[in-house]
Amino acid sequence: MTSTAIGRRVAAATVLAGVALTGCAPPSTAASAPARSVTPFSSSMATPTPTPTPSRTPSVRPTPTATHSPVAITSPRATASARATASARATASARAPTAPSTTTSVAALPPSTTSGSLAGKVVVIDPGHNGGNAAHPEIINQLVSAGTFRKPCDTTGTATNGGYPEYAFTMDVALRLASILRAQGAKVVLTRSSSAGVGPCINVRAAIGNEAHADAAISIHADGGPSTGYGFHVIAPGSIGTNSSIVKPSYQLALDVRSGYATGTGEHTATYIATNGLTVRTDLGGLNLSTVPKVFIECANMRNAADAARLTSAAFRQRAAVGIAAGITAFLTGR
Ligand code: ZN
Repeated sequence: MTSTAIGRRVAAATVLAGVALTGCAPPSTAASAPARSVTPFSSSMATPTPTPTPSRTPSVRPTPTATHSPVAITSPRATASARATASARATASARAPTAPSTTTSVAALPPSTTSGSLAGKVVVIDPGHNGGNAAHPEIINQLVSAGTFRKPCDTTGTATNGGYPEYAFTMDVALRLASILRAQGAKVVLTRSSSAGVGPCINVRAAIGNEAHADAAISIHADGGPSTGYGFHVIAPGSIGTNSSIVKPSYQLALDVRSGYATGTGEHTATYIATNGLTVRTDLGGLNLSTVPKVFIECANMRNAADAARLTSAAFRQRAAVGIAAGITAFLTGR
């Protein structure tokens, strides 16, 4: 990418102080995260978010006390009617102000087939971070809505100790996943199509899913946890009020993705965060602002040597994509 191109794209950027080079989750939050509690997300993991309800008073920080009591999805599978309702609401309230053009262009990949188990389904894939983020703190440090509070537009993401960046990993898995889902007949929309740009902001990433009326959306990340911890985890949204209609279907999506990913990759569930590979959070703009069923997956811990070895393997990334696709397919088809 060229800085001039970026400059053009982001004409209105406000310059803020330096960019925090951080991973997705603070190592310190790890170990003792209670089951399904809202694990404080490091500000490093800014997730894109559209600005839906203007009426919400932006409080400075998310209240970690929220409602994560087990979103009581006891039955493993959301009912069809619940999904339909969520989807209807999503459609109704979808329009979030589209963000400025700090974004890379949205790549809409046309379905490659008109049949298949996912025909008629729309899946939005959000590869976390971007390659130009580190060089453009003036863009990614801008505060944007994350629901009831504001967060930086985006973050740099983490990297393995060997220098393999998270943004490259997430893009690679996203493209592999897109191919698999398209082959099954789904329409796939990516929130970014290369690693040569900056952003998009977390609110925009969420808005892309909303505007596509996605049947399922997923943000792909890899964590920057403590080096002794390893494994993957999936993050489902807790309710902040405005997103209440997606909480239940998203939880089901999280269960399905967790299962598909574990089976597809053999990756252990995280040993340093979440519980059994699953957590519910209300501090992520990308989930708070979503009006469609959405989850995050932290595919492994980039700071752990064994995980890093897997993440840097193309064969593993293919298995990751296959596993995530299996989870999404299970969710969309009800198995
Ligand atoms: Zn990340």
